[in-house]
Amino acid sequence: MAVARRRLCISGVVQGVGFRPFVYRQAVSLGLSGFVGNDQDGVFVEVEGPVADLDELEARLRHPPPLAAVESVETSSLDVVGGSDFIILPTRHGGPAAVAVPADLATCSACLAEMCDPTDRRFEYPFINCTDCGPRYTIIEAVPYARERTTMSAFTMCDACRAEFEDPMQRRFHAEPIACPECGPRLVLYDSDGKTVAAEATAVGAAVDLLDGGGIIAVKGLGGYHLAVDAQNQAALLKLRQRKARDDKPFAVMVPDLEWARRISAMTAAHEAALLSVRRPIVLTPRRDGTCLADAVAPNLIEVGVLLPYTPLHHLLVERFGRPLVMTSGNLTDEPIAHDDDDAAQRLGPLVDAMLTHDRPIRVRADDSVVRISPATGVQLLRRSRGWAPESLALPASAGWPVIAVGAQLKNTVALAAGATVVVSHHVGDLDHLAAHAAFTAAVDHLVALTGVRPAAVAHDLHPDYRSTSYAMSLDLPSVAVQHHHAHVASCLVDNGVAGPVVGVAFDGFGYGRDGAPWGGELLIADLYGFQRVGHIRGVPLPGGDRAAREPWRMALAWALESGGRDEAAAIGPALDPRWEPVLGLIESAGTPTTTSAGRLFDAAASLVGLRHYVSYEGQAAMEFEAAAHSVAPADAPRWSACVDDSGDTVVVDPRPLIRQLMAGMGSREPISALSAGFHFGLGRTVADAAALVADRHGIGSVALTGGVFQNMRLTEVVSERLMERGLRVLLHSHVPANDGGISVGQAAIAAALGAQESGGTPA
Ligand code: ZN
Ligand code: ZN
Ligand code: FE
Repeated sequence: MAVARRRLCISGVVQGVGFRPFVYRQAVSLGLSGFVGNDQDGVFVEVEGPVADLDELEARLRHPPPLAAVESVETSSLDVVGGSDFIILPTRHGGPAAVAVPADLATCSACLAEMCDPTDRRFEYPFINCTDCGPRYTIIEAVPYARERTTMSAFTMCDACRAEFEDPMQRRFHAEPIACPECGPRLVLYDSDGKTVAAEATAVGAAVDLLDGGGIIAVKGLGGYHLAVDAQNQAALLKLRQRKARDDKPFAVMVPDLEWARRISAMTAAHEAALLSVRRPIVLTPRRDGTCLADAVAPNLIEVGVLLPYTPLHHLLVERFGRPLVMTSGNLTDEPIAHDDDDAAQRLGPLVDAMLTHDRPIRVRADDSVVRISPATGVQLLRRSRGWAPESLALPASAGWPVIAVGAQLKNTVALAAGATVVVSHHVGDLDHLAAHAAFTAAVDHLVALTGVRPAAVAHDLHPDYRSTSYAMSLDLPSVAVQHHHAHVASCLVDNGVAGPVVGVAFDGFGYGRDGAPWGGELLIADLYGFQRVGHIRGVPLPGGDRAAREPWRMALAWALESGGRDEAAAIGPALDPRWEPVLGLIESAGTPTTTSAGRLFDAAASLVGLRHYVSYEGQAAMEFEAAAHSVAPADAPRWSACVDDSGDTVVVDPRPLIRQLMAGMGSREPISALSAGFHFGLGRTVADAAALVADRHGIGSVALTGGVFQNMRLTEVVSERLMERGLRVLLHSHVPANDGGISVGQAAIAAALGAQESGGTPA
């Protein structure tokens, strides 16, 4: 029997997921000798024994534990050295690290069973975890991942925990955040004055009593604080909305179990699978009529965001409460989520009746991720944060140089491209707020620290006034300015693993154009190396800049003037807003900029049908307008159409016929649902026709649908169906948000590819 020795280098998500003990158990069961360890590149193994058994070991490594992801196994032969033991080497220190850091994981069923067992030493312990579950990304300070480089370093393991931690045959072998009531973090409940009212075993019960009485409680979670309140208590919810300055923006609801989720929403198997996944995102679900939830949870929307408990503390809290709880990010509207204890006490203290908190620090904030189930693509990420961050995505073209991409102004994320992959941060939020700037720079620093990659270039938006742009300019690095809609298209290319060129349909609210104008309804021919603007939605005056985004009636007036003339615009003006006359003057004045924004076009439509003239959050009018079409089956939508004007240098999508239909509808008794369905149908078909025209002219076979407007499922459906009828391949978003949360990914991919081009294709 031939004996050999081999070295295996395994890369992928192989740290902090029980991979080394897995290798150990397999090697021991095969009677092999050698060792397993980890370094900055992943896991390495040296193993010796009969060739057949070595082959068997390699085969078994292809089926790793559920949380691990093996990207590659490189094998080389060594000289036989003998020996009989197999050991696990201690973690090595120092050196640059490019390893994949694992994401945070929901509490596993084995830990839950122990937590419910009165005889277990971790009975009702809110920080129970093991190698299959618990905090990761949010507690890691540096790599390689080990307890002393996490926020658990301050807790000294007790003898019982240490024994579990050191026993390779145990579930908690090298579970870095291992803890128990003896040695781990402790729970405490403060009142609004910061006085301790309950601690440890009694804290959850006291918090539940407060919630039962309609109280608002800040709860420290995995990646930040939530504000919790009874989801069936309308008065308590209105109090929360008032304190949080959040007029209508929907709240997410945490339910005790799947049964409750089914009571609230009409769930499909895909919804249930997304809810139960270890990533535990907020899942947008079709809400049932007459549901038990209070109206103030998600006003005027047909969907509601639902999630299951994902930390032991959530399980204890929501199961004892026994009913759905609103769990919304602990922040004032649009500010970053609070994760630091002092900051939380300061910012959230005035909003709440009590704080349920603990002494395990959160190293990096991470909001809940949000997914929607799309019939076309399955799970579609709308916010990619906790549970996904910092998982990497493959680049369609290898990076020529390591690039840090600083993202957009709203829904900011940052990304780092190096080699064949791009690592994306958690959701940072809107950089308009002063508080967000520190969160933004911290996200950049953390990403660099976790990957150990020193960026050689920085990619940023073309907009000169974005905070992220100013930050990029302040770095002493070569910078690459990326046009906003080009970045959207590139993010869709990364999402689909396609290098292009494609026809990109990039529809959103606003992005700074090459000509400095506010773009937002763009048709581009694009790949990672560049783009050409080949078409757009017809431009209209944008009366009042940002105010036009908050007051859809302004866009309604602009489109009414454009489509029906002055008399018709003046006739509907009074029905829109008392200030219509001066705004009409502004629309007519030569100095007012022109926008091609699709988002603003949807706002105008929502206002013209009388649905909403003012919004309290971005996208509200468009979301409600889409919801209005819900009751009309796509096949029953009025067969309206817009025009494609192909007479100039660029193809223009002209929606004026649709606007005229809506204006005619205003006077009639036509229901809003039919008007909305007709608008979606007409705009969608025309956009598809324009894209198909361009594709045909340039000999391109694929069309990418991207930008926040393509979160509108009705529009996406109409456009993709029509494109497919015309024999085109349609690229949609699923892993990268179609909204500005994906901009950093697109920027990174473009700048990385440019670096490769400049260095003649050889990675620097
Ligand atoms: Zn567990
Ligand atoms: Zn312990
Ligand atoms: Fe955008």
